Amino acid sequence: MHAKVEGILISKMPYRERDILGKLLLRNGQKITVLFRNGRGGKRNKKTLCLELGYFLKTEISKSNIVYKEDDFFCANDWSLTWYHQKIRENIKAFYLMCVFLELGLKISLTASVFSIMNESIIFSNNNLKGEGVFNILSNALFFLEDSLIRNNLNVTRDFLLFIVKLLYIEGVGINLKECVYCKNLFTPVIPTKMFAVRLVPKEGGFCCNICSEKLNIKSNHQIMIDTYTSVKQAVTTKYKNYSLLHVKNSDISQSNASKILFNYFCYQFHFSRSEFKSIKSLW
Ligand SMILES: [Zn+2]
Repeated sequence: MHAKVEGILISKMPYRERDILGKLLLRNGQKITVLFRNGRGGKRNKKTLCLELGYFLKTEISKSNIVYKEDDFFCANDWSLTWYHQKIRENIKAFYLMCVFLELGLKISLTASVFSIMNESIIFSNNNLKGEGVFNILSNALFFLEDSLIRNNLNVTRDFLLFIVKLLYIEGVGINLKECVYCKNLFTPVIPTKMFAVRLVPKEGGFCCNICSEKLNIKSNHQIMIDTYTSVKQAVTTKYKNYSLLHVKNSDISQSNASKILFNYFCYQFHFSRSEFKSIKSLW
């Protein structure tokens, strides 16, 4: 039995001499394990493509009898590229950032069942670059990361913030920006304001205000929190195609406290520990 699927290669490892064992994130936001024969580039047939992380491809798969780490396992019979990046591979910062995007996508996506792959038509769609949830965010993040390199406009901190915020909201764990999580008073947009967000409280899914923070004797760096609050607020309303309009200082991401705070928030919401993420160590 065969099925046509389309997805992004979110992880890969060498297998045998010329093959690749990879995870493909499908349009429906679920992943599958696929064996790509000659995925490392064939010697005999020079036309065979070497598959790289972040490539977006179409393939026909069949169910394999092999079970790998308890996952159902498919074989790709043939494949073609729908989209691929060129600049990302040549820029070490962009490449590391892409690895972070892929690892986050890998961690939060569920594994598709064989039944759904073989019986549902939702996996394959002609709607170019559109998909569900995590697929949608990831395909946009990769496409516009490449775009920022073409335009000589790479900003790792900006791209990370946009990605993590979009991912949180699409996965249903968006941050309450409207009101203080404790006193429920509204944050006012007027600056200077008497009531502002001073701490992100992961357990409560939002920020607490300066007044509650004083009452509860919560220590916080106000400027860092105002930056974080503003970044989230901007990222929520910024469409991916307008990524360059997001005002984030183009500095080293290791200096970006907002990035770390939001990554910790992400880990808390999905019950991950930071140490589980190998790629994040290359950012800070
Ligand atoms: Zn409050």
